[in-house]
Amino acid sequence: MGNHCVFCKIIQKEIPSHLVFEDEKVLAFYDIHPAAPTHVLIIPKEHIETIEDIPAGDHVISLLAERAILIARQLKLREGYRLVINNGDNGGQTVYHLHLHLLGGRFMAWPPG
Ligand code: AMP
Ligand code: ZN
Repeated sequence: MGNHCVFCKIIQKEIPSHLVFEDEKVLAFYDIHPAAPTHVLIIPKEHIETIEDIPAGDHVISLLAERAILIARQLKLREGYRLVINNGDNGGQTVYHLHLHLLGGRFMAWPPG
């Protein structure tokens, strides 16, 4: 666990969050600054800083994606949604605990700003 990591604190329930989903390996909660009508963060309970820190052969990304798809179904995002991973400073990453953004509820422009 990352000692000063805000998402580890959410996992430990030291910081409140609006939970959407939890199982043994994954937690999902609403983003505090939503960028879309539905904006959920899906994170591994294991502290992994970036996608580049995922050990070779580890299936954490498919696990997060599978959970995201289930959550999108539960939240009835029938008209589509976007899954995003921001990596590093130029990628717009601000929290260095791996997370998948699930964004929906409006049309998502491409390319992003
Ligand atoms: P990123 O910029 O990809 O690293 O995404 C980090 C996201 O975490 C941002 O969209 C923030 O709004 C969100 N965030 C930061 N702190 C919290 C928190 N305590 N609860 C929920 N979302 C948070
Ligand atoms: Zn962490």
